Amino acid sequence: MKIHVIGANDAFSGYNTSLLYQTDVGLGVLLDCGFTVFPELQRNKLIPLIDIVLISHLHGDHTGSLSTLVLYSKYKLGKQLIIGGVDCTNLLRIMGISDTSWRPLKQSDGVKLETFETPHVPNEELNTSMLVDGKLFYSGDTNNSLLNTDFAKRAEVIFHETTFIKNPTHTNIDELNNAPYNIKNKTWLMHVPQRELRAVRIFAQNNGFAGVCVRGQTIQR
Ligand SMILES: [Zn+2]
Ligand SMILES: [Zn+2]
Repeated sequence: MKIHVIGANDAFSGYNTSLLYQTDVGLGVLLDCGFTVFPELQRNKLIPLIDIVLISHLHGDHTGSLSTLVLYSKYKLGKQLIIGGVDCTNLLRIMGISDTSWRPLKQSDGVKLETFETPHVPNEELNTSMLVDGKLFYSGDTNNSLLNTDFAKRAEVIFHETTFIKNPTHTNIDELNNAPYNIKNKTWLMHVPQRELRAVRIFAQNNGFAGVCVRGQTIQR
C-alpha cells in the first residue's frame, strides 16, 4: 500500500489533513477533501488516481473542495466518483451537485470500509473513524484517543489526529502517549496546528510514534 499525504494541518492553519491511499489492486482512495485539497491534488497531478472519496465528517476542512472534485471528475475525466464514510448527499445537493454526479460506496467496489462514530465537538455532530481494507486506520477528528480500540490493534498503519495544547475538540498528545509501544510505533500524527508542529514532532520522536505527517510525503508499506 502507498499513501500520499495531501495535507496534515488543522482547520485554521496550513493545509487540511487528507491522505490518498492507493490499494494493492490499484484503486485510489482519498480520505477527506477539505478546502485546500483540490488545489493540492491538481498541483501534484493526482486527481486521475482517485476513484473513491471517504469523508470522516462534514466540517469544511474535511469537505470544502469535495463538490469541485466531483464536478472535475465528471466533466474533465468522465468519471463518476464513489463517496463513502459520512453521508454527503445533502451537503452536495446544497452545493448544486445532482445525486447522479456521484454514487455511494458499495461493498462490491473493492475497498472494505469499517467505521465507528466518535465524539468531536462537544454536543455537535459526530465524527466517523474508518478502518480501510482492514489495515489503514484513520481517526478523522475526535476528542479522545482511539489507540485503545480494536481497529487500532488490527491496523497495519494508523493516522491519528492530535494537538499539543489541550483543546476540547481534539485529542491531546499526552492521551495518545498512553498507548502501548507496538501501537504507537505504527501511528502517524496528523491534523496538527502549524504553530504546534515543532513541539509535536519532538514529542513524537521522544515517545516512539511513527512520525508526524508532512504535506507531500509518501508512506509505503
Ligand atoms: Zn478537522
Ligand atoms: Zn472537525
